[in-house]
Amino acid sequence: MNQMIKNTQEASMKMESTSRAAKPAPEELVPSRYAVRIGEIEVLVVSDGVLPLPTEMLGHNADPAARTAWLGEMFLPQDAFDWALNVVVVRSGAQTILIDAGLGLDPDLNLPRAGQLMKRLAAAGIDLASVTDVVLTHMHMDHVGGLLVDGVKEQLNPDLRIHVAAAEVKFWESPDFSHAVMPQGFPDALRAAAKRFVKDYQTHLRLFEDEYEVAPGVVVSRTGGHTPGHSVVRVASGNDRLMFAGDAVFAVGFDHPDWHNGFEHDPEEAARVRVRLLKELAATGELLVATHMPFPSVGHVAVDGDAFRWVPVFWDY
Ligand SMILES: [Zn+2]
Repeated sequence: MNQMIKNTQEASMKMESTSRAAKPAPEELVPSRYAVRIGEIEVLVVSDGVLPLPTEMLGHNADPAARTAWLGEMFLPQDAFDWALNVVVVRSGAQTILIDAGLGLDPDLNLPRAGQLMKRLAAAGIDLASVTDVVLTHMHMDHVGGLLVDGVKEQLNPDLRIHVAAAEVKFWESPDFSHAVMPQGFPDALRAAAKRFVKDYQTHLRLFEDEYEVAPGVVVSRTGGHTPGHSVVRVASGNDRLMFAGDAVFAVGFDHPDWHNGFEHDPEEAARVRVRLLKELAATGELLVATHMPFPSVGHVAVDGDAFRWVPVFWDY
């Protein structure tokens, strides 16, 4: 009897260890992708993770007391604030378009919670080789860095087209940081990443001046402001519309559209662009997605007196 129990115990232990070995790694406990359908076009928001930054970055021209008050009203910490990092995959017709590429890895900047994109694209069943086009809203490292991760370029389609405004590539030849206010180490890291990106992907670059239709219903338009070549992507099919606004709009920008974000190279123009886009979004009622809005960053914009209001969509499962 005892022997029988022992055998059964051993057998069940063996089974357990076998099934444990065969089990796939547990999924992450937070969702990292969210799908939206715009008419015939599929849009998938994928999170690259979060980027903690000093709260002065939210508005370096703001009265510190007003900044403190806004953080308090939003139940956010006063010292460092986690910026979301959203990337979008669009499928239109036969094309698979990656809009921006996340941060990648930069051990010197100590941002271990970002740079998750490649892993999360794989988890979403998106094979890098299937990407036909990349659209860059601009060439800051948190938008191009994913393509600089070791081994990524080798997995990409050799005919991959990377669309970016000509003004953006020109800007990074000799970038002006005199109006930006960034944490130490960032300007050098951004310069180095942009430089390396152009060097590594030179033959893939497809430059546009003001506007370019990447695929049916997918149009990239240069806005300038954040950087001279900063662009937004408009997706339209049937009666549905969505704008991916890159870094033209931040979470604080609804209450305080005139606050200058530390990463803006022309902050006054960036504020004008922000207000113009938010007014357009409020007027058309189309969906907004932006890089640094809290994941999944899918919502509508309403006018609220002199400012705006962010109205996240109810999640649709
Ligand atoms: Zn950014």
